[in-house]
Amino acid sequence: MCHVRPPRAIRLARFSSAHGYSTVTFRAKRLIGAAIPGKTGAARPAQEHGAGRGKPKHMRSDVIVLGAGIVGVATALNLQQRGRSVVLVDKGDPGRGTSYGNAGMIQREAVTPYAFPQDFSTILSYALNNRRDAHYHLSALPKLAPALFRYWRNGRPEAVARTIAANIPLFEHCLSEHAALAQAAGVSAALRKDGWIKVFRTAAAQDAALKIFEEARRYGVESISLDKAALADKEPHLRDGLIGGLHFEAPYTLANPLALTLAYEALFEARGGKFLRGDARKLNLGSDGRWSVTTASGAVDAADVVLAMGPWSDEIYRPLGYRMPLFVKRGYHLHFTSQGNAVLNRPVLDADGGFMLVPMSQGVRLTTGVEFALRDAPPTPVQMTRCEPWARTLYPLGEAREKQPWMGCRPCLPDMLPVIGPAPRHKGLWFAFGHAHHGLTLAGSTGRLIAEMITGETPYTDPTPYRADRF
Ligand SMILES: Cc1cc2nc3c(=O)[nH]c(=O)nc-3n(C[C@H](O)[C@H](O)[C@H](O)COP(=O)(O)OP(=O)(O)OC[C@H]3O[C@@H](n4cnc5c(N)ncnc54)[C@H](O)[C@@H]3O)c2cc1C
Repeated sequence: MCHVRPPRAIRLARFSSAHGYSTVTFRAKRLIGAAIPGKTGAARPAQEHGAGRGKPKHMRSDVIVLGAGIVGVATALNLQQRGRSVVLVDKGDPGRGTSYGNAGMIQREAVTPYAFPQDFSTILSYALNNRRDAHYHLSALPKLAPALFRYWRNGRPEAVARTIAANIPLFEHCLSEHAALAQAAGVSAALRKDGWIKVFRTAAAQDAALKIFEEARRYGVESISLDKAALADKEPHLRDGLIGGLHFEAPYTLANPLALTLAYEALFEARGGKFLRGDARKLNLGSDGRWSVTTASGAVDAADVVLAMGPWSDEIYRPLGYRMPLFVKRGYHLHFTSQGNAVLNRPVLDADGGFMLVPMSQGVRLTTGVEFALRDAPPTPVQMTRCEPWARTLYPLGEAREKQPWMGCRPCLPDMLPVIGPAPRHKGLWFAFGHAHHGLTLAGSTGRLIAEMITGETPYTDPTPYRADRF
């Protein structure tokens, strides 16, 4: 498992079902405190057959979406909005995978990917394995090497330029697609509009960032350079020692990423969608060409199935004969109280420190950089240990709120682009995974694109760069 599931969820589930309440709707209302719309009946619901007399239920729908992370839920909503009956299947509760613990930023500015460094001295410093922003398991390298080698090759300037070009349409739509979904779900207020700030401790780091983001203006990315005084004005409780910052005003940020997934999921159910708990590895292709999955509530079949299982997606495509080089960059978070009356107004990235601080409903969330390791290897939160003292020099953190950091796995592909589109050799199978550092950001853009492809609409952008057979 890639994450720690709070036991409170189980108590809540029991309470909710005992009171005839959809667990998800209940949790979304509680976490966001907003009005989730009631049943509006926008799309055809899935059809149930064969229930009763001890016979297991059988359900027919147009589409099954595997994985109820933010990408799967946004995909389900987009399909539903286009009149498709949809069943969403997850092995656990919605939003409890990687989507649970991210930094909560819908990053309009993140068009330039996190590329593998190309210069020898930087690679050497990563190889020493004592940095704060990155860590690796030596024992994992033999398995990771083929994907990492391709990741390194895609760090060449011409390859990065290709990734940026492919990223532009997805990122251009990220804010509007989330705004539309959040409005429909009645949680527009959950999208905070104060942006986020990258802070600098050295002039060299500031100059390098200014250069990158000056160029990024070409892709519609706006940023405002802050001197020391302007930074202090925006974030008065950051400690001394910073020389300035770069403020990205456009991105939305969240106080609780789980709550957004649950609010979207609640809208999906309110519109007649079904969430079923089941193991997607039981996916089967029938002789009639329909896909089926056995869930805790019976079997469900559909003409189309969307694989949106983030870092677990290989568990479905590998047995079907696809060889995509999916790997994970693991990341950790831990919440802290603030000392005295200190307040953090928006997320702050300390690139030199290799971490981010984000004001969340649970406290100030410290998120770490990347860990190259096998997805299911036990957590090794050494970066948290390295970053925490630095974070305390940035902001007056109080006590940790949890004993152990949460760990999640960013699902990555070596060319730093997701896979969005049809499976080349299986009719009705669709892929929507591999969003790496930006799955929250791109959930709406992805959900719309894949739904447009499935329903035969003209896609809002050419999906060729995201096709599965590019590897
Ligand atoms: C520390 C950290 C910070 C981040 N910060 C940001 C950020 O600020 N902004 C941003 O855009 N992105 C951020 N990300 C990345 C982002 O969180 C991910 O890209 C995104 O959550 C991926 O979503 P997903 O829906 O594809 O996968 P997941 O959320 O992992 O969902 C996959 C789902 O599949 C289900 N599943 C797995 N196996 C099975 C099975 N056998 N049967 C049925 N269901 C199954 C899981 O239970 C899970 O619910 C961050 C990531 C980390 C780790």
